[in-house]
Amino acid sequence: MQYDGLDPDQRIRILPQPKRNKTGLWVALGGALAFICVILLAGGAWFMFGRSPPPIPIDTETEAQIDATQPCDTKVSRFAPDPEIVVLDFPNLTIQGLMLDRVAALIEKAHLPRNQVLDDVDLREAIYNCGDTIESYYYGHDYKAADLARFFQLAAQQNITLNANELWLKQLLNQLGWLDPGAVGALITLPAARPPVTEAMRAVILHHEISHGAFFTIPAYEAYAESFWDSLTDADRAAFTSFLGTEGYDTNNTNLMLNETQAYLVFTPDPQFFSAKAVGMSQAQLDTLRDGYIANMPNFWLTPMATETLPLGPTPKSCNTN
Ligand SMILES: [Zn+2]
Repeated sequence: MQYDGLDPDQRIRILPQPKRNKTGLWVALGGALAFICVILLAGGAWFMFGRSPPPIPIDTETEAQIDATQPCDTKVSRFAPDPEIVVLDFPNLTIQGLMLDRVAALIEKAHLPRNQVLDDVDLREAIYNCGDTIESYYYGHDYKAADLARFFQLAAQQNITLNANELWLKQLLNQLGWLDPGAVGALITLPAARPPVTEAMRAVILHHEISHGAFFTIPAYEAYAESFWDSLTDADRAAFTSFLGTEGYDTNNTNLMLNETQAYLVFTPDPQFFSAKAVGMSQAQLDTLRDGYIANMPNFWLTPMATETLPLGPTPKSCNTN
């Protein structure tokens, strides 16, 4: 509605002034306060008694299916041939590092305490001392359920402030039942193909980590890798131990040494990650070791993977939204 024919000053003068009713004002203020209290109480009740966060979706995928995708967000899949292996497929190295570098520092990085979770300052220093970044500390990770449970138990005991990615991992492990005593499972991870990670590197990282998954979930395979390690000459064991030391692994952990030896020797077909030169051997020497390992492997789903050519299929250039 318009006030035609009057100038603005006249309009103001003509408009009736509101009556100031003090009692009404206090009633209105009281009502508003009561309303705010109800909202806060309802929020608190939701926080305390409300629903837990929605479950994290978990897919099931083969190696070829993982190779053929590039996740936009962190994707969780059970590995189809062995559902006790859970694969975390990250959209980039940064999120992978933020979620798992502190775990790596506790479980298997050299020259760090095996019973103390690092806080942010000490973790940053440990990564820096290796000449690394959050992204490069590891390109792929692998841990058994019991070690992950121990990480979260120690972190709680030591009042370590965990970041949002680590808390998300804790939620996932809780959902999987891996924080319970005696849980069996292996977590393996890989990043999407974004520089510096190429599509070929991504496929090799996955292949390498899958072999660790088998090592952690199939006792007969762990026993085989151990017998192979014992069958090596002292010089060969020293060569692999020295290589793994330069890669930042704790060389005092024999189980870690023989697990990584099987993974690099047989399941890492990329000279950027591993070569005869890296262990001071001739190509013929290395081939003999590899062929011998494969010839006597127990026969299960991992066995054909030892001779696969990577990647298993064409990979998309960008992340998949479905
Ligand atoms: Zn490895």
